[in-house]
Formats: sequence, C-alpha cells, structure tokens
Amino acid sequence: MIVVMKSGASKKDRDEVTKRIKELGYRPHIIHGTTRDVIGAVGDERGKSVLQSIESMQGVESVVPILQPYKLASKEVKKESLVPITDTLAIGGKEIIVMAGPCSVESEAQIIESAKAVKEAGAQMLRGGAFKPRTSPYSFQGLEEEGLKLLAKAREVTGLPFVTEVINPETVDLVASYADMLQIGARNSQNFALLKKVGQIKKPILLKRGMSMTIQEFLMSAEYIMSEGNQSVILCERGIRTFETATRNTLDLSAIPVLKTKTHLPVVIDPSHGTGNYHYVAPMAFAAVAGGADGLMIEVHPDPERASSDGPQSLKPKHFKTLMEKLRLFADAADRTL
Ligand code: PEP
Ligand code: MN
Repeated sequence: MIVVMKSGASKKDRDEVTKRIKELGYRPHIIHGTTRDVIGAVGDERGKSVLQSIESMQGVESVVPILQPYKLASKEVKKESLVPITDTLAIGGKEIIVMAGPCSVESEAQIIESAKAVKEAGAQMLRGGAFKPRTSPYSFQGLEEEGLKLLAKAREVTGLPFVTEVINPETVDLVASYADMLQIGARNSQNFALLKKVGQIKKPILLKRGMSMTIQEFLMSAEYIMSEGNQSVILCERGIRTFETATRNTLDLSAIPVLKTKTHLPVVIDPSHGTGNYHYVAPMAFAAVAGGADGLMIEVHPDPERASSDGPQSLKPKHFKTLMEKLRLFADAADRTL
C-alpha cells in the first residue's frame, strides 16, 4: 500500500502515519516528492487491508494499493527519477551520465591513463573492476583492495567519481569505503544476501540485469535493495542470453521504454557487455540514448589487445572520443544534455 500525504501535510502528520504503519506490522518508507510525500507500507501482502484505516488520519489524502509485486521501485510511488551519485552529480535528470573505463583495474599506469582519457572525452564517471566475477576460476580475478586504492588514486588525479563491482556481502563495507557507486554484476543480480547487504549502505547501487532475468525479476532485485532502506538504485541493461551467437549477448534496448513505464529508477545501458565487440558499441550507445537511456557504461582500455579481461569489447581512447562527439548529437536530438 502507499499512503499519499496531502501537499500541506506537516512532519507531525507524517510521523503519526509512520508510527501507525509500524503498529500495524508494516515497514514505512518515506519517499519525498516535489509537491507531496508518499509513504510506502511494505510487508506481508496478506491482511494489508488493515492499512486502509490510515485514510482517516490527519494529513492523509488517500491509501492506495500498489498492484505490482515490486512496490518501492514502482512508478506508482514516485514519478521523478533523479538519483544523486555525489554532491554534484546525479543520474535520471536531463543530463546523460557516461561511466567509462577498463573492465579490470590492472595497474596504476593503466587506470590513470584510462581515467584521464575518458575524462578528456567527456565521461562524468570512471568504471573499473577490482573484484572480478569470472566464469573461469583460472582467469584474472582482479587486484582486489589494491585495485580500489588505484581507483581512488585515479579519482584524486582526475576528479572523476568511480563505480566498481562488489561480489559478496563480506566485502561490501570495504568497497563502499572507497567507491562512489557500487555495481552488482549480472552474475550476482539474484544473490539476495548481497542485495540485502547493499540495501543497508548509503552509497548508490548500479544493479545489472541478470543474463536470463525477466524485467519483473530485475525489478524485484531492485526491490530487495530498496526494501532494506537504500532507495538509490540505478538499473543497468547489459544484454541477455538468447539463441543468437553473433554477439556475446543480445542487448535488450526495448527494456528501456518498458522499464520507463514501470519504474522511476534511472536506466543505464552497457553496450560493451551487451555486444561483446567494440565495433558494435558506438551504434548501440547512440540507439540507447535515442531510446531514452539515462546513462551509459562503456569499457575503454588504453591497450585493448593486452587487456586482462574483455579486450575485444573495449574501445581505444581515440574511438571513445569519437563516440562521445557523435553521442552529443543524439543527446541533443533526444532533448538531453551530455
Ligand atoms: C563488468 O562490468 O565488467 C561485468 C563483469 O559486467 P556484467 O556483470 O554485466 O557481466
Ligand atoms: Mn567487463
């Protein structure tokens, strides 16, 4: 259920409502809107009709059921989609946010060169994996905390905030102590213990879609994070597994308009993992912006042939620069800025 407060409702009215929600055995989640607040009452679906009595409380406009199984992620709860990343950067507004950098952090020189190059081309965030979830246990697993330190150094040099992946609940606090945004990768997108843990921190979470996840399941994973208290979730479509083998994955760009009708959460597209081939990255990035994406995640490596992971899909800095120049035209056509 959501409790829609009147636009002039006071803090006291709101406090009384949250108190009552708790008394009835539900968890209140306050969502501040531009004109009014709404309070989500989350809990057992059975017996939720007891919440209807809240309608007669002071400052309450209405109590309405949310029909979808995801509640806090639902568009019914909130219309605007802005999620702050740092004090000066937010995603889900008019500006398209581009996060770019190598698949894995490999060395100080590699990450600093990457950060400088993506910054110069106009990216607003750096990406780079320190903990890598690899299909093979024999593949490079990442530099771990050393990688986080190098990302922090690259941030110091360039001023770019960074996003990096966290792969288990035990390292969430460590990763959060360095990163500006934490990524949950496709392989962990239904790791519910991990989702709950990142729901308890105060950093924004970039949640990738699992390779065989429906949109409803994707939103339920977001709901896991949000129901623990962290409302700063950004969804990332990175390709799903289909019968097609010409590309690494099938980038589901139709997920953008579908998600936009169902949720207020911002949507990022990752054309690098979505295609697996650097030749296809720019066209898919343009299509994503034309289709309404709020951001892009793009792998860029100073020397893709020697990359420890995902070299074939990584752009060289000069190709990334060209992509960004052309992307501005698409952003403009979509009435967005870059
Ligand atoms: C990555 O971003 O490098 C990554 C491993 O992504 P995904 O989880 O989408 O495969
Ligand atoms: Mn990668």
